[in-house]
Amino acid sequence: MQIISIDDDYQAWREAALQALASRMAPEDIDWRVIADDDRAATPALFDDRARVPRAAVAPAKVRISRELGELLKDAACYRDTARWAFLYRVLWRWHDGDRSVASAADCDGARLYKMAKAVRRAKHDMIAYVRFRLREPGNDVPAPDQPEYVAWYEPEHDVLAWSAEHFARRMGRSTWLISTPDAAAWWDGKNLRLEHRPASSSDHCRHTADEAEALWLAYYRSTFNPARLNETAFEQHMSVRFWKGLPEGHLIPSMISEAKSGAQRIAQARGVGMLGGKSVPVDAHDAQPARAQPSTLDACRRCELWRHATQAVDGIGPDDARIMLIGEQPGDQEDLAGKPFIGPAGRLLDVAIERAELRREHLYLTNAVKHFKWMLRGKRRLHKTAAQQEIEACGYWLQRELERVTPAVVVTLGATALTALLREKVSLRDWLDRPIEVDGMRVIATYHPSFALRQEHDEARERVLDAIASALARARDLADAERER
Ligand code: SF4
Repeated sequence: MQIISIDDDYQAWREAALQALASRMAPEDIDWRVIADDDRAATPALFDDRARVPRAAVAPAKVRISRELGELLKDAACYRDTARWAFLYRVLWRWHDGDRSVASAADCDGARLYKMAKAVRRAKHDMIAYVRFRLREPGNDVPAPDQPEYVAWYEPEHDVLAWSAEHFARRMGRSTWLISTPDAAAWWDGKNLRLEHRPASSSDHCRHTADEAEALWLAYYRSTFNPARLNETAFEQHMSVRFWKGLPEGHLIPSMISEAKSGAQRIAQARGVGMLGGKSVPVDAHDAQPARAQPSTLDACRRCELWRHATQAVDGIGPDDARIMLIGEQPGDQEDLAGKPFIGPAGRLLDVAIERAELRREHLYLTNAVKHFKWMLRGKRRLHKTAAQQEIEACGYWLQRELERVTPAVVVTLGATALTALLREKVSLRDWLDRPIEVDGMRVIATYHPSFALRQEHDEARERVLDAIASALARARDLADAERER
């Protein structure tokens, strides 16, 4: 196995790949590695070249590829996946060997290539749409020669900062700016663009201040929001929750939605109806009171300290007569903002598993063992923190109420926290996998949490975890069917 170490960019990969092709190194014989910035800083002499490839006796291969394949490779190179360089080399290898089907969406590698490129193009579009430049706060700790007028913080899904920075450099004239992301930053001094890999703490450089224009924009945004016309699903489809925190108006959105849900919607409608012409009818004074939403008792829960730093409690979702209940760990960043469980990346992966198990999400009851988001700040990102045993126990009160209300025939616990909550004792997930048990008259199947699949570095490992979740769900489906027939 030959190790090829490269910078984490397309140009470095391309140079290394052409040299490897010239040496006829097969894809399965190469271990592609990215040179970490820390390694480079520690031993700079080792990393003089952009790509540390064993020097071939022959010149780099000349490969003619179609313009379309070239674009696909370039875009797919920005896809965040540690295995991407090896995959791109396999595509190039097959093309070089005359296998043109690799550029077709009908081919297995081709389909993956198109999927990666599509995700990256979407990330580019999102970044252009949702980056907001804001006036830099005077005195923030950006080094003196680099103090830009505007700063922006953004968390791209894929590695599209370089591409987007060029886009903004073309459009922002001589205004100077800095875009910071969790792993890199782009600086524009009015003439030159500079890219740097930085740790997440560089978000400090994005401390901004609100100018008059921003205050005006916020006032306008709030005044145009009509709670009576709020369609939350359409709203989130139009602008995904994960972009909210980067927008000046982002902090207004959860509270406006929550106000709309807790009465403003009805009041606005009542006012609208009251302004319509029509005949007067006598009504009872009591009935004429606008219906007030019951404050959510879950949201008011203070059984442990997790409520203090969360936006809201996230209740379970699904029909009360669901035969299968899925219990996860706790809401994540996006769930905390939107107040709904399983809508973030892990939720999307769970949807794939649900589909593979031939189940439908709307027939399942989905909830979490812990109802408030526990997190720690890393840069500007709120990273998940595992709930402590006493927090799981405190929140068991709410889980128990859901179990009593829904009375599912089968419960699938996703991850160790959910299993611990259900069994009311600390357990190791490994001991319970693939062992259906009975708890309080319910069949219980333990499997992995989808976020465990997300944390796998390699596609194969991710697939294995996803398959295990899908087969646990399929087993739950069979058990629920058998239960119904009894
Ligand atoms: Fe209450 Fe659970 Fe929230 Fe703790 S995590 S405050 S127990 S709802």
